Amino acid sequence: MAPSALTPIEDYQFNYENLKSIDHSLKTTIDNGASKTKQLIGSALKAHVDNVDPDTCDAGEEDPFFVADLGEVYRQHLRWKKNLPRVTPHYAVKCNPDKRVLSLLANLGVGFDCASKAEIDMALNIGVQPERIIYAQPCKTKSYVRYAAQRNVKQMTFDNADELHKVKQLFPDAELFLRILTDDSGSLCRLSQKFGASLDSTAELLVLAKQLELNVVGVAFHVGSGASDPKAFIKAVQDARFVFDQAAALGFQMHTLDVGGGFNCDDDFETMATVLSASLDEYFPDEIRIIAEPGRYYVSTAFTIACHVIARRTIADASLGTTSYMLYLNDGAYGNFSSIIFDHQNPEPRLLKCGGKNLFDVRRPGYETPSGYEYSIWGPTCDGIDNISKCCTFAEVINVGDWLYFENMGAYTKCSATRFNGFTDTHDVEYVCSEEDALPFIGA
Ligand SMILES: *Cc1c(COP(=O)(O)O)cnc(C)c1O
Repeated sequence: MAPSALTPIEDYQFNYENLKSIDHSLKTTIDNGASKTKQLIGSALKAHVDNVDPDTCDAGEEDPFFVADLGEVYRQHLRWKKNLPRVTPHYAVKCNPDKRVLSLLANLGVGFDCASKAEIDMALNIGVQPERIIYAQPCKTKSYVRYAAQRNVKQMTFDNADELHKVKQLFPDAELFLRILTDDSGSLCRLSQKFGASLDSTAELLVLAKQLELNVVGVAFHVGSGASDPKAFIKAVQDARFVFDQAAALGFQMHTLDVGGGFNCDDDFETMATVLSASLDEYFPDEIRIIAEPGRYYVSTAFTIACHVIARRTIADASLGTTSYMLYLNDGAYGNFSSIIFDHQNPEPRLLKCGGKNLFDVRRPGYETPSGYEYSIWGPTCDGIDNISKCCTFAEVINVGDWLYFENMGAYTKCSATRFNGFTDTHDVEYVCSEEDALPFIGA
């Protein structure tokens, strides 16, 4: 059968009634872990800030710092295995190339999604075998393809004809995944405007790959980072099925489907995973290997950052009789809060230490204190775009020398920080582990 005789699966309806009920049996482990996490992170934060005296310390001693709970990464892995038992995760290194996280994941048997020579090296240097790496960048640098060939990193994605010619020239033995376009309109960071072959171009690409005698082993997609609609996965799986059938008609024997990233770590994960599992089972027989490239799912909740209040501006409005404050922190949008600009996040400021009192986990801004003082929060650079929060409320009067903290700072934060204005882009990470079972997997 010629591939042109095939038509994409048009019926994107999905019978939700066939879904197994969503599995929440890990909930107790996760809840217990969450309270232990709080305790450990709280004491690590306190110990660090109590050790800094802003009136006498050396330059930089009051720099922002992270506390990372490797136990949280471990729990996310348990949660993955429970909910997506068919799918082998390949952690997307770009999301947070933290060495301790990478080595924990490597020891847990997770594979790696790398997009550059440096990322490939990070995985290889901690002892990951090349077969566990996918070079998941459809538009690759030529010298990096040669490097991948040297290091035997065979799995890689493509989505256009020029890339096929490049691979033919530099690494004809590569195991290629055809990355297809998805509907990513419901995601936080859209990727399909940049990457992915549309379904009306896949037949042509496969024919070319055949002529070049290249080895196309599977299909890859990414529904967009921070995906929110499980239907995006269903449609992408159906489209991938269509391309598998096209490839089979041309004599390719595809054996792997790569369902990409886009998984969130909130309660929606179980729903997403259940829908994805059901559609995989419906469209792909057991002998097809399924891999994924989760990034933020693994690390987002594991990292908390503490920042120091370096300056304050008091704004008294005489006509209204109100006072509000502008707070300036030693980290901002050009630093670890780059996630505000690149990843559309709104990190929530919380009080860590104020007027000598430890206020970790005591209260949230705004919610329980509607009648407190109003603040806007800014980063340390000279640029007006360097804003962390336009408006928030605290019961306390916050002053220079106090500390704030922000949770869920593990994904797309320190990896995209810059050195703009001479502020440092490297910060201390202190590690804790709230999960005893994870200890054997944690390297030094
Ligand atoms: C960024 C990226 C990922 C990770 O995405 P998350 O939304 O963080 O899971 C995976 N695969 C590719 C190709 C990516 O570009």
